[in-house]
Amino acid sequence: MCVLPAALVAEIDIAFHEDTQRWDLSNAVLEARFELSASGVFRAAGMRNRVSGQSWESAASSSPVSLRTNSFTFDDASTYRLLRQWQEQNDRGGRRLSILLEQTGGAGEVLLEFDLHENLPVLRYGARYRNTTGKEVQVLEAEPVHWEFSAGGQTFRQLRVEQWLPTLGANPGAFDRVLSNLDPTGRVSTTAGGANTRYCTWTALYDDTRRGLAVGWEFDGRMNLDIRHWAADDRLRLESRIPELNHPVAPGDEFQVPRAFLVLFHGGPDDAGYATQRFVEAALARPVPSADKFPYVVWDSWAYGEDIDEEKLRRNAAAAALMGAELFVVDMGWARSIGDWRPDPVKFPAGLRGISDYVHSLGMKFGVHFAWPHAAPESPVLRDNPDWAASTPDLFHRAPSLCLAHGPVREWIVAEALRIIDDYGVDWILQDGQNMVKQCRKTTHTHHPLDSNYANAVDGLDWIVDRIQTLRPAVEWENCENGGSMMTYQMVRNYVTSIVNDASGARAARTTVYGATYPFPARYSDRYMPEETMDSYTTRSYLFGGPWILMNRLADMQRTDLEYLSQEIQRFKQIRAAVRDGKILHLTNPPGENRIDAMAAYDPAADSIIAVVTRDGAAAATYPLRIGEFDAERSYTVTFADDSRVLTMTGAQLARTGVTVRLPSQKMAEVVYITPIPGLGGAN
Ligand SMILES: [Zn+2]
Repeated sequence: MCVLPAALVAEIDIAFHEDTQRWDLSNAVLEARFELSASGVFRAAGMRNRVSGQSWESAASSSPVSLRTNSFTFDDASTYRLLRQWQEQNDRGGRRLSILLEQTGGAGEVLLEFDLHENLPVLRYGARYRNTTGKEVQVLEAEPVHWEFSAGGQTFRQLRVEQWLPTLGANPGAFDRVLSNLDPTGRVSTTAGGANTRYCTWTALYDDTRRGLAVGWEFDGRMNLDIRHWAADDRLRLESRIPELNHPVAPGDEFQVPRAFLVLFHGGPDDAGYATQRFVEAALARPVPSADKFPYVVWDSWAYGEDIDEEKLRRNAAAAALMGAELFVVDMGWARSIGDWRPDPVKFPAGLRGISDYVHSLGMKFGVHFAWPHAAPESPVLRDNPDWAASTPDLFHRAPSLCLAHGPVREWIVAEALRIIDDYGVDWILQDGQNMVKQCRKTTHTHHPLDSNYANAVDGLDWIVDRIQTLRPAVEWENCENGGSMMTYQMVRNYVTSIVNDASGARAARTTVYGATYPFPARYSDRYMPEETMDSYTTRSYLFGGPWILMNRLADMQRTDLEYLSQEIQRFKQIRAAVRDGKILHLTNPPGENRIDAMAAYDPAADSIIAVVTRDGAAAATYPLRIGEFDAERSYTVTFADDSRVLTMTGAQLARTGVTVRLPSQKMAEVVYITPIPGLGGAN
């Protein structure tokens, strides 16, 4: 082996120093170092943000590999021999370093993979265990996140975001932003993430010097991230645990520890969010379906509940097309029952193809609700195969769960999905269910009875979605776990958007978008609008975020409401790409009754802003909108959706005094547009 030439992607550099068995990884904004010591211990040596110059030095013994099988524990002190190391372009245009290690006692091989992308201060990584022992082993513990850093003499603020959990009982989350101080005496802060847990799979830490570290993980199952800070010996430790892990690995087979990533940001919560989101779009997320038309304007039939039929849908399809909708979704109620995915013969005597063809003839895409992980007790699939039910029902509208990790269930679901897509001309799947990572301890299924969390996430849910998407790649998928409670970085790989609340009205739409746009790009917060009377407070509560889904009886609405809605849909279409790609600024506290709230999207390339300011019953009739992102010397034009003023202000004025946004009604919202005046002042 010799020192490898500079990476083919010029900006990313991965160098291996054979004499010291050390790796230096860098791009324009990040450096990371790893080494295999003379005694054979693999350790992280530290990371640095090259723009801010701020470092995260690793503790003396910190290995990203942490795994326990029934016969061996791979930990910080384990020793390895380097078998091979190489680098290649990864599947998203970044660069991957692979390091294949053999445990010196013959307990198995560990393949470490590190990914870098141009201009992103993010290290993505994963570890894979290969069983070379000649006997079956079981993986009992695996840590996707296992790091220890020097705290640098600092204390830390921690940001987390809850999921949509109205069913959690006490303290139900609605994408609440949870900001806290990390206890410097070593008390643990636990973030429980994954399907049907409290938090999104992300957290950010930052200190008084604005040195920031965010971590995210790519796993739909349940995982706990534990963070501890000991100021006394200046240590910051990140550990993780996947509950109920009992994963059998046959001789020669592999076990993939779920991948995760570290974001070295500089600044506060909005900076943590923006750095994470740019990485998610570049490296993880399912590509945006259309550069100029996504997020879509959508109509969804749930305004009628299950009381739908072809005639109602046709009338609303015609109205939706007139309003400029791009996607028409038939929500729950079209099928004979949950699990019996054939059209209800009373509601749709001619089947679903007629309405699908009609929707297509109007120029819209056609979507259907498909709660494929469930089957009602009376459905043929469950009557014929009663053992296919998971041992924990996790009922969805009275329909119990199928065990997605059970081989025959997987095959049946894939076949049903292909039939539905092909027979009904489906372009969009609205996936729904209760707790998408099923819990099952049955001994009669193909998975290990005590491995349901990992098996149902990776070998169940993800396997099924991947199989269907491979066979029908043009279909776009929306994640809806009963309102948005599987907000993970595996989810973004499988779906083009996710719901973040459940037709819960204007304020909840703003509240949930506010929280979800820290960890996730704005397109992953779609909102259902149930209102049928239109005003600026209502429509603009839905203006900011992912697909805008009209969930109202469009065909029966008043003409004046439809005219207003049509104008606002045009406004949404004008700003949607800028909001989708912008740096999201949370300019106020979260939305609430008797407050004013404001969010904005900043486009760094154009140096422009779009802000939505909402007066939700507050006493004040004006709001000083201050934006700190602009060049102080440059001049900007400020315009509004409703207010006819056209203002000229400098970046310094916008940062200090701000622009006074007029909000004359108690319930209303204004849209503010700020764009630079070409050639007037400033360094740009
Ligand atoms: Zn099972």
